[in-house]
Amino acid sequence: MADPQNHVICLDNFQTGSRANVAQWLHNPRFELIRHDVVEPFRIEVDRIWHLACPASPRQYQRNPIATAKTCVIGTLNMLGLAKRCGARLLLASTSEVYGDPLVSPQVESNCGNVNCTGPRACYDEGKRMAETLCFDYARMHGVSVAVARIFNTYGPRMSSSDGRVVTNFISQALRGEPLSIYGNGEQTRSFCYCDDLVEGLLALMNHAEMEGPVNLGNPNEITISELASRVIALVRPGLAVVHQPLPIDDPQRRCPSIERAEMFLGWRPNVDLDQGLQATITDLAGQLNQAGLIAL
Ligand code: UDP
Repeated sequence: MADPQNHVICLDNFQTGSRANVAQWLHNPRFELIRHDVVEPFRIEVDRIWHLACPASPRQYQRNPIATAKTCVIGTLNMLGLAKRCGARLLLASTSEVYGDPLVSPQVESNCGNVNCTGPRACYDEGKRMAETLCFDYARMHGVSVAVARIFNTYGPRMSSSDGRVVTNFISQALRGEPLSIYGNGEQTRSFCYCDDLVEGLLALMNHAEMEGPVNLGNPNEITISELASRVIALVRPGLAVVHQPLPIDDPQRRCPSIERAEMFLGWRPNVDLDQGLQATITDLAGQLNQAGLIAL
């Protein structure tokens, strides 16, 4: 559990986030929200740094790939510099994208990955790989306490309906009565972790002072994108059609985490079942679209 006495200083450049996402905390005296881009240095006294910066949706991180690379590399250097100065523990939100289009499945942390360093996903994949490298070099050279979490596909309430990732696309399309856009033949797989489960994993990792990682955090329940479409259709609008669109370049064919390390060292495994998590996300997105006048409830 998080310590209720903690003071939280939240930095956000609002590239993909919004004040509305933290509205419930804005009047809490132990919470401060500052508009800041981690690409610029930031000086403050803290004892824990949750370095979560960077869009994670392919559509969003490819919009300005140079900014994405800067966030991953310069942003991480700035946050590690801050951790070194303050003696703070830093948790890096890394990604399953470090495995690229994996040659082994499920992906174990010892796997070095299969990443195309010149493709459109490289700004994020290689950026996060470099971010991990920097963490381990700061740990070796300067004794900074680091924790590297490799986060697999995560979803849940408060994602934007225009985020561009598959869960929000499918739910938004279904709520609007539009066919679901499956890229490629839909046989590619992903494993979807509900946000509350992920938060528990991140807290466990931060609290385990000796654990550097990298450690996979994700749900090992692997499904095809076609199966995901069927689940969303069944929950929102039975009978809705799907439409196939071209598969994006370098789209990984398989993705499924091995969570043995997280189970063994953190005692963590996800609990929320996909239908339950999808239902909570559907309720939230329906509210968002209704408020924007895009659907009528
Ligand atoms: N995808 C899809 N339709 C969409 C959005 C995504 O079929 O409207 C597919 C995409 O090609 C990929 C998977 O769903 O195979 C997950 O894509 P997402 O953008 O959510 O994240 P990724 O796991 O690729 O980073």
